Amino acid sequence: MSHNTGIVHLVGAGPGAPDLVTLRAARLLAQADIVFYDALVHPETLALAEKAQKIPVGKRCGKHSTQQRFINKRLIDAARKHAVVVRLKGGDPMLFGRAQEEIDALHAAGIKCEVVPGITAALAASADLKISLTRRGVSRNVTFVTPRVGEGEHASDWISSACNADSAVMYMAAGQAADIARKLIGNKLPADMPVLIVENASLPNMAMTATTLGALQSMNERTTHGGPALLMIGRVFQRVADAQIAVIDRDVVREVLAASLCA
Ligand code: SAH
Repeated sequence: MSHNTGIVHLVGAGPGAPDLVTLRAARLLAQADIVFYDALVHPETLALAEKAQKIPVGKRCGKHSTQQRFINKRLIDAARKHAVVVRLKGGDPMLFGRAQEEIDALHAAGIKCEVVPGITAALAASADLKISLTRRGVSRNVTFVTPRVGEGEHASDWISSACNADSAVMYMAAGQAADIARKLIGNKLPADMPVLIVENASLPNMAMTATTLGALQSMNERTTHGGPALLMIGRVFQRVADAQIAVIDRDVVREVLAASLCA
């Protein structure tokens, strides 16, 4: 490793709200010479990198591996020119963010890297809903799972992971919600199992649909407004699902939750 090689910091930008980043993330952004950022990063978070050159590298809905290799190379090149390189990723870098490929590539090139955790979307959604993902007697485990399988990859057994979880939070799944519901019911999850679709967690335009697996199977209309969304499946969501809510906005979510908590 040459003496003047910089450090690459993989930094969690949090779920969206710009004040849900760590102090460490804010400090590194302020020091950064160059920032490579994902599509979902809030402009105010990016603005913390006052003196940095800012380079968008993310693409919504997954990246091809060639693009990933290109990002890896750009990080390596940047570290050979700059002292503080930040790779800013939505939520937590280590969950569904392809962090390992970047870490391994940096390691292979002899470049130091550090990781700064961030608040992942599932935890932001749980906070917005005021529903704990674990609950005495109802949920002792939480599974973070994605049905997305990249090109040339083996399909992982996401169906049984989701079915075996007390609470399952699915990332990159809302676009195929009806198909997912059919598969879970086909794998013996009950049709009355509550499902919430939570969009734009932590942001002012947060929205939620509360339904059941059975109803979701035949939902043909769009289930979101096009923002990033999670499917949250499990009995801990029962009270909200019982309210039979269609797509609603943040203020209505608050009212319904207040009512269901009193019920
Ligand atoms: N590393 C990120 C996840 C990246 S995968 C994290 O820890 O949160 C991208 C997926 O995350 C989206 O398809 C969506 O399922 C979810 N997501 C990201 N931000 C979200 C938000 N504010 N609200 C709901 N889901 C979100």
